[in-house]
Amino acid sequence: MGKWKKLLASLPCLAFSLSAAFAATPGEYVDLGKLAVRCGTCATYCDGGNCGTILAKGLEIKCHINSACYCVNGTNVYGQCPVAGQPGRLCVAKSDWDRVIVPLVSPRQPQQLRRICLDPGHGGKDCGARRPRIGLEEKNLTMDVAKRLQKLLQKRGFEVVLTRSGDTFVPLEARAAVANRSKCDLFICIHFNAADSPKAEGIETYIIPLQGAASTARLQNPTAGDKKFYANNRYDEKNLCLAFCLQRELSSMKPANDRGVKRGRFKVLEDVNCPAVLVECGFITGSQEGHRIGTGEHRQAIAAALCEGICAYGTGSK
Ligand SMILES: [Zn+2]
Repeated sequence: MGKWKKLLASLPCLAFSLSAAFAATPGEYVDLGKLAVRCGTCATYCDGGNCGTILAKGLEIKCHINSACYCVNGTNVYGQCPVAGQPGRLCVAKSDWDRVIVPLVSPRQPQQLRRICLDPGHGGKDCGARRPRIGLEEKNLTMDVAKRLQKLLQKRGFEVVLTRSGDTFVPLEARAAVANRSKCDLFICIHFNAADSPKAEGIETYIIPLQGAASTARLQNPTAGDKKFYANNRYDEKNLCLAFCLQRELSSMKPANDRGVKRGRFKVLEDVNCPAVLVECGFITGSQEGHRIGTGEHRQAIAAALCEGICAYGTGSK
């Protein structure tokens, strides 16, 4: 090990911050076949060569040409750059491989989790999404799921802190401050989605983008605001692993549409001093899903899935 490398290794925080800035422009691409060889396997192709699959450390990674969505052991996770190449010879962005796939397939250490902050989205004058015809208001649904999840987590021995305990308005910065002040080990922000089309249904889990990277919705078009390093960027890898565990459990509820782990610069997440995610637990506007969300049984299933995801993250299991 060279002198410089030795110095970096002895200063892990410095080493990390030096490599933290994400290449905003699509950089180096790597042949999927070569990555497979490195993993001691070979790439297989289907769908006329447009879909490639490899096994990395026992996990199946599937990708499609022109898509930034990777299916990791059946759970969708978005990278930053669409897969390039040609049918039968796909190329993935090296930055996505290094920053998305490698953290997910690498062995994970058990985490010391004691206190968990649950943030029921909206509240008070901020109702969030609404579907008055069937009596759904997001602020009430998020609170209901948070209270159900609180009970489940307490049964497993966790301490739980809520950012609001009643129907009150709490500013976004104050929510992050609750987690930081209480020295929480995880921050789980609970929301429900809404869309104009009743066809939109499914689960999404958000974490903040890497420094320099745009949100999933804008992919390769970062803005000046994307260049900033936020306190929560210190947890990029842990955020990803936590989001993956939660998305996997939530989207295993049947029927559920897995819309994937995505990146979004949500203000509520930026300054949180621990791994933090925002879960969108389904569309209240969805023609079927909205009705399911209206039942206590379904909200209990959401809470149970979140609890399982948190525990899986905590034990380091894949
Ligand atoms: Zn919301």
